[in-house]
Amino acid sequence: MIVERYGFPGGTSTQMLDTFYGFFTPGDSPRKVVGGIPDMVVNTLDASGDIFLRPNTYGAGTGVNYNPEKLKLVWDSLITSAGIQYLLHSTLVDVVQTGEENICIIWNKGGFYKIIARRVIDASGDADFCHLAGFAYETAGEKEPAQSMTTTFRMSNVDLAQYEKAGGKKMLMQKMNDAVATATHPLPRKEGSAHEMNATKCISTVAVKVSGYNALKANELTKAELEGRQQAFIFEKFFKDEVPGYQDANIIGLSHQIGVRETRRVYGMYRLTKEDCMNALIPGDNIFLCGAPIEDHRMGKDGESETVWQYVPGNGVYGVPYGTIVPAAGETVWVVGRCFSATHDAHASCRSMAQTMSMGQAAGLATVLSLYHDCSASSVDIKMLQQQLLVIGAVLEMPVAVADTSRNGWKNNSPT
Ligand SMILES: Cc1cc2nc3c(=O)[nH]c(=O)nc-3n(C[C@H](O)[C@H](O)[C@H](O)COP(=O)(O)OP(=O)(O)OC[C@H]3O[C@@H](n4cnc5c(N)ncnc54)[C@H](O)[C@@H]3O)c2cc1C
Repeated sequence: MIVERYGFPGGTSTQMLDTFYGFFTPGDSPRKVVGGIPDMVVNTLDASGDIFLRPNTYGAGTGVNYNPEKLKLVWDSLITSAGIQYLLHSTLVDVVQTGEENICIIWNKGGFYKIIARRVIDASGDADFCHLAGFAYETAGEKEPAQSMTTTFRMSNVDLAQYEKAGGKKMLMQKMNDAVATATHPLPRKEGSAHEMNATKCISTVAVKVSGYNALKANELTKAELEGRQQAFIFEKFFKDEVPGYQDANIIGLSHQIGVRETRRVYGMYRLTKEDCMNALIPGDNIFLCGAPIEDHRMGKDGESETVWQYVPGNGVYGVPYGTIVPAAGETVWVVGRCFSATHDAHASCRSMAQTMSMGQAAGLATVLSLYHDCSASSVDIKMLQQQLLVIGAVLEMPVAVADTSRNGWKNNSPT
């Protein structure tokens, strides 16, 4: 059964974004390092003409741009075709653990209901299940500054040809710097992504930066939402006034909610560290690969916003151990996505969507193995799990072949 608090699945992927990062390593010789169910998702979008690759050797590497509204349909059909019970508009509000059973209390408009689950995968982003079950975790901001939050927005009627002719991204960055230096527009940030979408003349923007609020406290999250919306319209005015190609453009959509990068990170059987990432280690109990850099959006010491980048040496990859998705305290529970077991730095590298999807597929298979063999999460046979992952197309070793990251290159990398 899947329980989701909103009216559609996909979390951040459909609430606010349009680009999967983490499929490809950055650099001049990119490799495709993720496969399996994430490929199936992209292949389905590709079949209806709803993706293109956005080649990029810097930043997080080449992105897979998708149509987020179509992605909602893809998630729906993956869930329903697998025969999974699917409950939207339902929120997990309490947990009672008794022996092998996890009693999950959910709330929806009909009232409170109990789901008795033999196994649970906590994919709530905020580790709500683990929190309610009393498992140990680190809260963002406890040891290192928490990553900032972002309201994303989409603008229509952008003249891209005019924008590119005027200098494209380089020109945009210069205009942002000028606007801040001359105080013509109170931009919170002098960088960010404003990129072409899968819809004509539309641009998706990840530039808003809201810091200093705790996303686990509703009163603070309320303030963050208000600030995020205000910043979005400050950016709209800046684009219209200053950036060639945007004079007739307008915001046509804000993200469903403000984007939250990190809150709780559960302590697992293993905790991924910055050293694991920067030493490019591929351990024997690896369940997926990551070549994405540490990308830490935060408030700098001088009060200025900054994004700190640190790359895996040699444009390489590291492998992520199974223990990062198994909470230390939970024998019948897995934790995936942005609340998995990692330090702040390691999380800032491993939170891209190709990687969070990879955690999900590993946890799904591990759950099946644990039920089939009647064993706990910590005693799942990792070799068997790896074999099953390889059967569905997951990538556990650095590929030799350089990937085709041209705009229409997806098909050349990813056989169905
Ligand atoms: C602003 C921003 C920009 C980013 N840009 C990129 C990018 O361009 N490319 C990229 O690859 N990655 C990007 N990332 C990172 C990436 O998107 C996230 O790390 C990843 O999507 C997190 O996925 P998740 O499934 O762990 O959590 P979420 O996406 O937060 O999903 C959690 C799901 O659980 C539901 N839920 C939560 N609590 C409950 C509850 N109690 N009961 C029921 N349902 C609940 C939520 O509604 C949601 O559907 C970005 C992140 C942010 C915030």
